[in-house]
Amino acid sequence: MIVKPKIRGFICTNAHPIGCATSVQQQIDYVQAQGALNNTPKNVLVIGSSTGYGLASRITAAFAGGANTLGVCFEKPPTERKTGTAGWYNTAGFHAKASEAGLYAKTLNGDAFSKELKQQVIDTLKADMGKVDLVIYSLASPRRTDPETGEVYKSTLKPVGQAYTTKTYDTDKNIIHEIALDPANEDEIQQTIKVMGGEDWELWLEALGKADLLADNCKTTAYTYVGKELTWPIYGQATIGKAKEDLDRAAAAIVKTQAAKNVQAYVSSLKALVTQASSAIPVMPLYISLIYKVMKEEGTHQGCIEQIYDLFTDKLTQAHPEVDELGRLYMNTKETNDVTQAKIKALWDQVTQENFHELSDYAGYHHEFLRLFGFDMAGVDYDAEVETLIDW
Ligand code: NAD
Repeated sequence: MIVKPKIRGFICTNAHPIGCATSVQQQIDYVQAQGALNNTPKNVLVIGSSTGYGLASRITAAFAGGANTLGVCFEKPPTERKTGTAGWYNTAGFHAKASEAGLYAKTLNGDAFSKELKQQVIDTLKADMGKVDLVIYSLASPRRTDPETGEVYKSTLKPVGQAYTTKTYDTDKNIIHEIALDPANEDEIQQTIKVMGGEDWELWLEALGKADLLADNCKTTAYTYVGKELTWPIYGQATIGKAKEDLDRAAAAIVKTQAAKNVQAYVSSLKALVTQASSAIPVMPLYISLIYKVMKEEGTHQGCIEQIYDLFTDKLTQAHPEVDELGRLYMNTKETNDVTQAKIKALWDQVTQENFHELSDYAGYHHEFLRLFGFDMAGVDYDAEVETLIDW
């Protein structure tokens, strides 16, 4: 099949297998160029392992730390007529390289929120890997089926308390326009907390603890975005922010229930960047295009792999990592410091349809967006036939 990007709204509905494998290889090259990590975890479970921050975490654990990794993701395999999803091909690329390097890697594709998938993980760990010393929780999902009741909860991206009107960039129509977002009602807030809050993270640790699969001093982290004034109305103080606040509650609960193993549970606060999850959030494409411009000029720009390598180096491999006033592993100072935010705010106030491409780094944003799906990668021949029926 010849595979060219098929973009529909904020998502690309196909993916290029060689491009995805190349993107994985570039991330491996990056961590290997930084040098091996000290005090690395040896058995790592990554929930949400196929794209974005979870994939970067898996690559760092394996290729900078030599860890055995078990991944969990929810991806679509290829068929005769359709390509697989990017996460499918990323995982295939990861497995190929892990196997070459002699690293244990297995990935379970299914619904991480379900009891069945948790049981499969437990069975796999018992059979292959043994106790885990790091659990990364990096799910981003629009819905969750409650494993007890079967009820389906949906997350909403809305402000809380009052309506909010702001600028956004429509990546599909290539226009900047105002959007008015109505505030969420209580049910929408609670449903978003059910999907993106800490309950499922707790259930994972509970299941692993009961099965005696948590090593002494095991660490676990779930990822959050905190941001600043420009994104608070739609993120930090909105429905998704409420769900993320619930991660702090869950972290404390995990530490308490797993005290016998001295499990350390942290919420890690990471920077905003282009992933499949963030592309779907109104305001984010415009905000990220502006921060890319400012942070590249400041020399502080990072993608998933750079940010996660730093998280491992500065925090996750430290016996007692420094935490912020909320107990979080805060990795986002380069984006949220006052000087950088003031520059972004100045651009935000000026940006219009006419000057958007001049004031922002939309070219960089768009390249990163295509790269998520294995497109726009140097060295990949997109006119050539490619085998899409790839497994791992
Ligand atoms: P992503 O969309 O790239 O990755 C989501 C992962 O979750 C994929 O591996 C996907 O297969 C998996 N997944 C989704 N639903 C699943 C299910 N039901 N069962 C099993 N796997 C499932 O997202 P991302 O941006 O890397 O986000 C990961 C985490 O990082 C999220 O908690 C997000 O809020 C947080 N975060 C993101 C940003 C950002 O700017 N992208 C910033 C800070 C924090």
